[in-house]
Amino acid sequence: MKVSLLNLKLQYQGIREEVLKEIEKVCDNQSFILGENVAGLEKEIAQYCNTKYAVGVASGTDAILLPLMAVGIGAGDRVITTPYTFFATTGSIVRLNAVPVFVDIEPDTYNIDPNKLEYIIKKQTAAQRARLKAIIPVHLYGQCAEMEPILKISKKHKLTVIEDAAQTIGAEYKGKRAGSMGDFGSLSFYPSKNLGGFGDGGMVTTNSEKLAEKVRILRVHGSKPKYYHKFVGINSRLDEIQAAVLRIKLKHLATWENNRMAGAERYNKLFQDVSLPNAVSLPAARPYNRHVFNQYIIRVKKRDALREYLAKECIGTEIYYPVPLHLQECFRYLGYKKGDFPVSEKAAKETLALPIYPELTPEEQEYVVSKIAEFYKKTS
Ligand SMILES: *Cc1c(COP(=O)(O)O)cnc(C)c1O
Repeated sequence: MKVSLLNLKLQYQGIREEVLKEIEKVCDNQSFILGENVAGLEKEIAQYCNTKYAVGVASGTDAILLPLMAVGIGAGDRVITTPYTFFATTGSIVRLNAVPVFVDIEPDTYNIDPNKLEYIIKKQTAAQRARLKAIIPVHLYGQCAEMEPILKISKKHKLTVIEDAAQTIGAEYKGKRAGSMGDFGSLSFYPSKNLGGFGDGGMVTTNSEKLAEKVRILRVHGSKPKYYHKFVGINSRLDEIQAAVLRIKLKHLATWENNRMAGAERYNKLFQDVSLPNAVSLPAARPYNRHVFNQYIIRVKKRDALREYLAKECIGTEIYYPVPLHLQECFRYLGYKKGDFPVSEKAAKETLALPIYPELTPEEQEYVVSKIAEFYKKTS
């Protein structure tokens, strides 16, 4: 049996006719940029995320960059985030010549640890603390970060909160949707995300009319009206073909989320049945969280050998992420060193993503778990 990490072709088969019809309409209209599909999708996504506004942009990365720009983050400003995330979270901070301030993660959810947040803020010098402007909690793998304490501390220190919800559309924290709790939410429509387009795309969510308008202006080079520039923005427009595809997919998203959650539960049960408590730790979902499992992450012994073994058995896996950001070469100038964020560093060595797409069958999951059990039997 072959089980790939992700199989987008299966998903496409179910919506092929509908999607091709809508793409054909866009082609017939020859209106490609910021048209009726983008406007429609913005309304529908705002509704889905329970926010007042949503603004379509060119990528999930820009959905982080533009909010930072909208609140005026610039050279020397400091932005708190996690070192255990996709590069874009921190890359966006640095592109504005701002300084990322890392806070380690919780060992079980892999999200930023709110208990370490105050400590890191206290550790800043008075001058640094004066430049502390924002925080980007990342909702990793499909589960929201611990937003209540994060929002409380942010309010106390007057930090703008940008939720990196790239992996987490549809997730909930204590009944609140991802992207609706901070000043902004950042969504990605990269094809492997829970709501993925046929290329790049992203969206900024917010409840502030003023901030939504600012992002709308910045995504078209800061111009309003056209060719009159009060700000320097960027080109970050969502295109009509992407929006048309995403509108169709959005109608299926709730079902796909349920399939992912059911798949995660099935994995949990299968792992309990083969009983590998010393070798495999299962994902931790907080009881008040709706975890939408963009990734199903296990923490394992002998990770790299296991991964190799599974590859030989035609099972696709991935490591998200092998090098925490504070140890990346391009951030060496920040002065961090090995051992600064031990929880992130350990996770980077021990975690493994298993296949979890909505169309995954119980038989495929049984195969994956049985091969993992086989590996530990053979190597113990
Ligand atoms: C995918 C992702 C992004 C960036 O999204 P793109 O659409 O690829 O630019 C940012 N943050 C996280 C956590 C992501 O997973």
